[in-house]
Amino acid sequence: MKILAITNQKGGVGKTTTCVNLAASLAANYKKVLLIDLDPQGNATTGSGVDKSHLQHSIYHVLIGKKLLNEVIVTCEKGGYHIAPSNRELAGAEVELVNELARETRLKQALANLEQKYDYILLDCPPALNLVTVNALTAANSVMIPMQCEYYALEGLSDLVNTIKKVRMNLNATLEIEGLLRTMFDNRNMLAQQVSTQLVSHFGDKVYNTVIPRNIRLAEAPSYGLPALIYDKTSRGAQAYLELAEEIILKNQ
Ligand code: ATP
Ligand code: MG
Repeated sequence: MKILAITNQKGGVGKTTTCVNLAASLAANYKKVLLIDLDPQGNATTGSGVDKSHLQHSIYHVLIGKKLLNEVIVTCEKGGYHIAPSNRELAGAEVELVNELARETRLKQALANLEQKYDYILLDCPPALNLVTVNALTAANSVMIPMQCEYYALEGLSDLVNTIKKVRMNLNATLEIEGLLRTMFDNRNMLAQQVSTQLVSHFGDKVYNTVIPRNIRLAEAPSYGLPALIYDKTSRGAQAYLELAEEIILKNQ
């Protein structure tokens, strides 16, 4: 079982799109996948076809200790994976956990008590280096960092790398950076090409070979509650995430 935190404190870089489409693509490769939505925006929940406004229980109840993870998991039929959904209630967890013991290890504990076995567990993090993200980094085996190849991309990366170092020292000694994923890539954009080259020379084989192109189908699919693989399998976006899934499976064999 591999627990992968998909994180970047920068907003709108493609974390959720990566989670939903990678979940569906791993499932298409016969892997058992659980996606955990850790963002109060609940975009991974909606994008998986689950109505976030009518949730009886969500990941919020798991983190505050009111429910077991098994009790909140639902099936995303079309995508072929399971999801622990989230909605705005999760925004309260940060405050409620402030004075609790072991507040950083809530998710790790919840995963340890999980009944069902999965090949991959994907954690969709919020755009912040907050307590929920620290919970994800504490529970994870490794981190995937989606990023857009633009001018400020590398700057934000150092804050994230520092947080990962702190988590390694205090909470999760074996946490690794699994890879950096170039998202919304536009081949015709010179700056994107330059930043991409810099990224590879700086991080070497930590950069996934697969590049996710900017593709309208990836942006449209969530409004139908579907991964792009189901919405339009032939689209360049869906194909790129299939390629990423294969790269990850090979890497983890
Ligand atoms: P947040 O930080 O708010 O959680 P995020 O990092 O999860 O954002 P997404 O929600 O995945 O980012 O993507 C931001 C927007 O860009 C969304 O509208 C999404 O549909 C769109 N998008 C993501 N990836 C692509 C892509 N490869 N091509 C085109 N549009 C994309
Ligand atoms: Mg998101």
